[in-house]
Amino acid sequence: MKVQSVLEFAEQARAGNIGIEENTHKILDKVFAANGMNFFNVISKDLALQQAKELDSRVKQGKASGKLFGLPVSVKDCICVKGIESRAGSRILDGYLPVFDATVVSKAKAEGAIIIGKTSQDEFGFGTFSTNTGIGFNAPKNPFDSERSCGGSSGGSAGLTAFADFAHVSISESTGGSIACPAGFCGVAGFTPTYGLVSRYGLIDYANSLDKIGSMGKTVADSALLLESIAGHDEKDSTSLNEKPSFADEKNFSTKGLKIGIIKDFFGEGINPDVSKIAWNSIKKLEKAGAKIKEISLSLNAKFSVPAYYLIAMAESSTNLAKFCGMRYGAQESLSGSFNEYFSKVRSNNFGEEAKRRILLGTFARMSGFRDAYYLKAMKARTRLINEFRLAFKEFDVLANPTMPVIAPKFSEIEKLSPIEQYAMDLCTVPSNLAGLPHISINSGFSQKMPVGIMLVADYLQEKKLFRAASALEELQ
Ligand code: GLN
Repeated sequence: MKVQSVLEFAEQARAGNIGIEENTHKILDKVFAANGMNFFNVISKDLALQQAKELDSRVKQGKASGKLFGLPVSVKDCICVKGIESRAGSRILDGYLPVFDATVVSKAKAEGAIIIGKTSQDEFGFGTFSTNTGIGFNAPKNPFDSERSCGGSSGGSAGLTAFADFAHVSISESTGGSIACPAGFCGVAGFTPTYGLVSRYGLIDYANSLDKIGSMGKTVADSALLLESIAGHDEKDSTSLNEKPSFADEKNFSTKGLKIGIIKDFFGEGINPDVSKIAWNSIKKLEKAGAKIKEISLSLNAKFSVPAYYLIAMAESSTNLAKFCGMRYGAQESLSGSFNEYFSKVRSNNFGEEAKRRILLGTFARMSGFRDAYYLKAMKARTRLINEFRLAFKEFDVLANPTMPVIAPKFSEIEKLSPIEQYAMDLCTVPSNLAGLPHISINSGFSQKMPVGIMLVADYLQEKKLFRAASALEELQ
């Protein structure tokens, strides 16, 4: 079934052709009925209906405006929404009600978005399958096959976006691939911007030098519209850039002569042959449409980006998690013993297994005596890996690879994977994330009736090139 585009929906809603409260009611009924799919950690029914009423009255007053006017928007749990429990999928944040909106949420609201809830994820983003959920949370199920994962860590966002038979977009987040991976596994468009293009203010951090808030939608155009609504400079985030993308004029572009580099390291060993073939077919379509195709090797990234990423990400996350000690936010335990005993009790009882693993490994990598060998070495490697991309972008407009090496695995298969085997699955998504480069994943086809994603990467702030290439490909599919 063809779902109305966000552009069309907002236009109709502004014109008063859609009863916003009525539509919001309908959608809330649908998401409540799909509760067993675990897309949400919280459905914010009261807030959504209150916003819908206000928007209906704005239409009546002739004051309807905004790119996302009346549109149901879901928000990954790690992004703060005022008055709505925001836990980043962790029991340690039980009961935490932010007293402010993240900048992206206030920007989306200013464009008329209706926040329908917080989507499920791996605890603090620590995972690739949304199965590393915090204690008491459930993994979202893939709408194409409920025995399979939605991917992670923005699994709820992607699952819901694929499931929705109504206009909807999701604000999600990526540290090492958490937008592209689930978008790929669920067959939707996931747009991860250049690091710094979208404010991180109000994000419950995973790893500050890597975190990027981005967008998911059914189509490239939907995800791009959300991205331009939430991007832009924010003085509350010291890494925020003074840039704002606009895709509105990108209508009659051509992909003729667009230079696409095929990252050959991500088409061979370690990649399922069917997945590789499906991604190749998409590239051939672009070639037929006039793009110039050539293979390129990113051998340093293929070898070292996963270990460098996990060292840096864990080192940063272990410091970020230090603030969760039961004194300021979220879960508490009965007060007894010394501060250290209390602190340990809160953290032992409320962090999940993967969070504990990352605190231990990350702290170890930063300890004096080991810092040079691990954390600082990984930082040096990061510079080399970024340089490899820099050279590639002297020759190419965009680079392409399959988003994930496999189709969405079954939960029973994931259980059998060791943590290292799970980390290795991020092979294709980690490089561009480590470098802070913009990328988009869109559907490339199907294998065993499951979506296969293709990922396009561009140079810093070249989101428009991604938009063009991905829109063209979407049309050719
Ligand atoms: N799978 C990666 C990790 O576990 C990336 C997750 C993310 O981007 N939040 O770190």
